[in-house]
Amino acid sequence: MRCPFCGTTEDRVVDSRESREADVIRRRRECTKCERRFTSYERIEQVPYQVVKRDERREPFDRAKLMRGLQVACRKRPVPQEKLERLADSIEQAMQDTTEREISSKAIGRMVIERLRELDPVAYVRFASVYRRFEDVDAFVKELHQLR
Ligand SMILES: [Zn+2]
Repeated sequence: MRCPFCGTTEDRVVDSRESREADVIRRRRECTKCERRFTSYERIEQVPYQVVKRDERREPFDRAKLMRGLQVACRKRPVPQEKLERLADSIEQAMQDTTEREISSKAIGRMVIERLRELDPVAYVRFASVYRRFEDVDAFVKELHQLR
């Protein structure tokens, strides 16, 4: 895996751990060049969950999009990337507990807000204030970029 700090592709795994439900394997890696540590996640590819938008349109759940929203909300805040990955994991986990294989963007927003509140007050307020109005991560990311 490419080191996110220096770009070297040589690393060693220092720790591997399965999630409680055994559907994600998390590996702590150490770059052999700069010796910094980072985390990779291995998961089974699944049929994506559908997100129901406010106007009833459906689109597949996009973890990367959620992560972008979280990163923007946590910009310049002391929140480790790993905590955000965990947050996204818990959202995905909650989705897997639903039987319908679809979830409203509103419900996702509420879950994110709840979890962010425990992580960082500023990120929470940023996310909550914008997300409540848009209920859409794309619009949220755009709005936050404009705020800066
Ligand atoms: Zn490195």
